[in-house]
Amino acid sequence: RANKSAHGIFLPHLVASLEQVEQTYIMVKPDGVQRGLVGEIISRFERKGFKLTGLKLFQCPKELAEEHYKDLKTKSFYPTLIDYITSGPVVCMVWEGVGVVASARKLIGSTNPLQAEPGTIRGDLAVQTGRNVVHGSDSPENGKRETALWFKEGELCEWTPAQAPWLME
Ligand code: ADP
Repeated sequence: RANKSAHGIFLPHLVASLEQVEQTYIMVKPDGVQRGLVGEIISRFERKGFKLTGLKLFQCPKELAEEHYKDLKTKSFYPTLIDYITSGPVVCMVWEGVGVVASARKLIGSTNPLQAEPGTIRGDLAVQTGRNVVHGSDSPENGKRETALWFKEGELCEWTPAQAPWLME
């Protein structure tokens, strides 16, 4: 397998862990957009060192919200959850990296923001479960499923960040 960059520099980090590279679907929910927290939330994933491969501002149609949250259909809060997610634009993102799914969940914090640790997005920026500002996939499988649900293939970007050799040895 080729492990040299276009310039012939040996870059093992580019290929060493291709099998372990996961995708996670992260979304700034309508409250996060309305409260002006988009930059703050994006920058937490960016500073951590994950790779952004998809990004768009999007008004979610009801059918998509229902498909995304289909596992919660029987919950009492489901109708208000669908209203909430479709109430204004969301920022849809795909982040890639080794262990990104579990790590993003840690950066996001517990579902109930009052129980989320300080330092996490929900712990720092939210107070109520029904207004918890951000979504993150809960497994690598759901990372793939949700990425395919929210993004068309041509909307994702494969690239090598300049900082890659300084993040992974
Ligand atoms: P998470 O988003 O942390 O993975 P869940 O998958 O359990 O959490 O729930 C999905 C989303 O549904 C939550 O982020 C929250 O917006 C909403 N939700 C979950 N539980 C409640 C609740 N008890 N009341 C209102 N909204 C809820």
